[in-house]
Amino acid sequence: MITVEKNQSMYTESVQNYVSQVFETVKNRNPNESEFHQAVKEVFDSLIPVLVKNPQYISQAILERIVEPERVISFRVPWVDNQGNVRVNRGFRVQYSSAIGPYKGGLRFHPSVNASIIKFLGFEQIFKNSLTGQPIGGGKGGADFDPKGKSDGEIMRFCQSFMIELSKYIGPDTDVPAGDIGVGSKEIGFLFGQYKKMRGSLAGVLTGKGLGYGGSLARKEATGYGTVYFVEEMLKDNNLSFEGSTVVVSGSGNVSIYAIEKAMKLGAKVVACSDSNGYIYDKNGLNLEAVKRIKEVEKKRISTYVTDHPEAIYSENCNGIWTVPCDIALPCATQNEIDQKSAELLVSNGVKAIGEGANMPSTLEAVETFLENNILFAPSKAANAGGVSVSALEMAQNSARLYWTFEEVDSKLHAIMKSIYQNSKKAAQEYNAPGNLVVGANIAGFIKVADAMIEQGVI
Ligand code: NDP
Repeated sequence: MITVEKNQSMYTESVQNYVSQVFETVKNRNPNESEFHQAVKEVFDSLIPVLVKNPQYISQAILERIVEPERVISFRVPWVDNQGNVRVNRGFRVQYSSAIGPYKGGLRFHPSVNASIIKFLGFEQIFKNSLTGQPIGGGKGGADFDPKGKSDGEIMRFCQSFMIELSKYIGPDTDVPAGDIGVGSKEIGFLFGQYKKMRGSLAGVLTGKGLGYGGSLARKEATGYGTVYFVEEMLKDNNLSFEGSTVVVSGSGNVSIYAIEKAMKLGAKVVACSDSNGYIYDKNGLNLEAVKRIKEVEKKRISTYVTDHPEAIYSENCNGIWTVPCDIALPCATQNEIDQKSAELLVSNGVKAIGEGANMPSTLEAVETFLENNILFAPSKAANAGGVSVSALEMAQNSARLYWTFEEVDSKLHAIMKSIYQNSKKAAQEYNAPGNLVVGANIAGFIKVADAMIEQGVI
């Protein structure tokens, strides 16, 4: 018996060494890509027990293959600004994995976009899309273009130039991009218009489209609502709920606004939200209609909220939002917005649950802090999968040439989020990490893709 256990622990150690070696190769092959390294490390750390139990994943070099994108496309995006100056940005599309379906993932337009950011997002997307239970592979794209402060004409010319190149690589059955930071319905409309002009009317080539030309009801709400549905399941399992809870939501973009809306519908008091300049705190609970008007209609800064709400406080420094005491924190802005210090503050202020609406908003150290303190933690690749799930439902509606009602889409979304929660929970239990949804989501997402890769041979 003792020998068996000793052999088992020696084998586990050799698997750990193997995973460390693969990770070192990833770092050496992709230098200066810290966000990408971070995303890979989190997944690899979760997979050790899976590899111990399933040696075929090692012999078939699944880790070595899955970290290498099937294709990375980087391209020049020239356009002319309103003053007649020629401007040049860099565009990307990372087609990461088509093991279980066409590449699917958003486009991000933000000055911080680079290969590391797009690769981390694309890598995460593989497992997220697998978790949805729908037949979609992983991809991501974008450009280091800043739509902020640009006129509609400038944004249109940029999107047209971007699509002239991107159109060579995408299609309804190969790669279907959507929105992300800086790419909302306006940008999707311009991108779609250019694609249609070049390739004919193929409604299924982008998701997040306007409702009048192939978009799906509830896509706009999907990521925010989905995050709250996921957290609701996690809370329920622990005899907690949104009802009567104090909630803080970072950001004030697409994901944040609809996370706030659903949390409020479930009886929470949402007291703070932010943008990249600062945050507002309204102890009586935010006025969501005012937030929507400021961000969706007037496109102003969140600081203007206090003009009509003198009882609210605006503070510069967006990360200060994590000093606000709350029961539930929903980071919905951007990657690495919660570092260890912010995580410690949240814990010492009594937070009970974290639900990641943004992609990888907590650093590895912050996640460690939450888990060590037994804070309920809903990781992004599971909790924010509602957006891509409804994108896949948009593709299904486009193919069938029909539209579902808001209620139909919303109830499918709700069912998908519940099932992602249950599958992540089950995988965590099966692999001796009960309650650890980081491990559970990584494992549940990975196994399906790894098995599909093996069945399809070395390609
Ligand atoms: P938006 O562009 O609509 O909104 C982003 C919001 O975050 C803006 O309010 C922005 O403020 C704010 N922000 C940016 N950086 C910071 C910061 N450091 N601190 C505080 N606020 C900040 O993007 P989305 O809502 O679409 O995306 C948000 C996150 O959700 C991203 O991580 C994205 O990848 C993820 N996500 C989005 C999905 C979707 O369906 N849209 C699907 C799954 C994940 P400002 O206006 O100042 O820039």
